[in-house]
Amino acid sequence: MTDICPKCGLPKELCVCDVLDKEVEGKIRVYLKKAKFDKIMTIVEGINPDEVEDTTKDLKRSLACGGTSKDGMVELQGNHKARVKNVLIGLGYKEGNIDIA
Ligand SMILES: [Zn+2]
Repeated sequence: MTDICPKCGLPKELCVCDVLDKEVEGKIRVYLKKAKFDKIMTIVEGINPDEVEDTTKDLKRSLACGGTSKDGMVELQGNHKARVKNVLIGLGYKEGNIDIA
């Protein structure tokens, strides 16, 4: 008897649900937000919670800007949309998983 995946109904050997879950988890969204006093922040969303603090440090160092991690998101001071993708790729994130809004 074949094991059937409860999620998609396919036999386990054809099921890609686990792979899809990982891809969804790995999606990173980058967008700009207006903060207090009309300052622009670059928000990076979707970083693995275990890595968000280290990633914040690496981004701040690479982009030479201030920033914090808050609620699992990275908040960087200033507009870094143009460079943040390359920095994330340099940290090992997959280019195809990074959405720049
Ligand atoms: Zn499945």
